[in-house]
Amino acid sequence: MVDFGRLALAVVLAGTVAKVAHRRQSLSTSGAWAAFVSGSALFAFGTVFWYAPLLFFFVSSSALSKLPKPKSVERDFAKGGRRDALQVLANGGEAPLWLWAARAWPGASEALYIGYMARLAAATADTWATEVGVFRRERPRLLGLFGPVEPGTSGGMTPSGTVAGALGALLIGTLAAVQIICSQGMRASALWAAGLVGSAGFLGMMLDSVFGAFWQHRRRCRRCGKIVEALEHCGLPTVYAGGRRWMTNDAVNAMSGLFSALIAAGAAYFWRF
Ligand SMILES: [Zn+2]
Repeated sequence: MVDFGRLALAVVLAGTVAKVAHRRQSLSTSGAWAAFVSGSALFAFGTVFWYAPLLFFFVSSSALSKLPKPKSVERDFAKGGRRDALQVLANGGEAPLWLWAARAWPGASEALYIGYMARLAAATADTWATEVGVFRRERPRLLGLFGPVEPGTSGGMTPSGTVAGALGALLIGTLAAVQIICSQGMRASALWAAGLVGSAGFLGMMLDSVFGAFWQHRRRCRRCGKIVEALEHCGLPTVYAGGRRWMTNDAVNAMSGLFSALIAAGAAYFWRF
């Protein structure tokens, strides 16, 4: 049975979050609609263990994106600081699907929850790493090892960004442990869950950099010659400069998130958390 009172409350809550984020320029109009639909479903049908981590990711990432950063970086990123619907979907907006799957397969619900949390950990790690690395104005290196690249370049990694990413992943892992402690009591599996979600999230961030460095769609500015993600630079349309055309930044985020989720859910199912 649908509880209409709760549904109404969920719609109001999700609407408020989406509206505030839209006004603060964290979400574009399409992004706000996507967040509204996904948030309503999660508030209406999920427990606090489902929506609190997503809210934590969303609020912390939006706050970090407001840190002052060099003007050029803002211009070179594909979509700037405002997340559109595709970006929302690539960064956890599909959360209601995980919730639905966990309800549909009770035997795998704990594993699916761990997969969902790992996916959020990867999104958190990747976003925190990018925002902190750019804010600290550190010179990123490709995969942290090879020749320095422009700040904001896909696949670029900085020391402080990597530390921030690890911290973000671990915090989401801690929230997964809290869920296990609340539902099953103090158990060793809570510690395992924190470690598994945290490391799967960290791995997802690394995968994001690998996909970004090798296969992400790159474009070149026809005026200044810079390699960018954006379709426009220096007031001119940019041209194709390498990578798979369909592999946008959103596709990279979605794929690395899915990998983290599969690894963590598989491990959790195997060890019967
Ligand atoms: Zn240019």
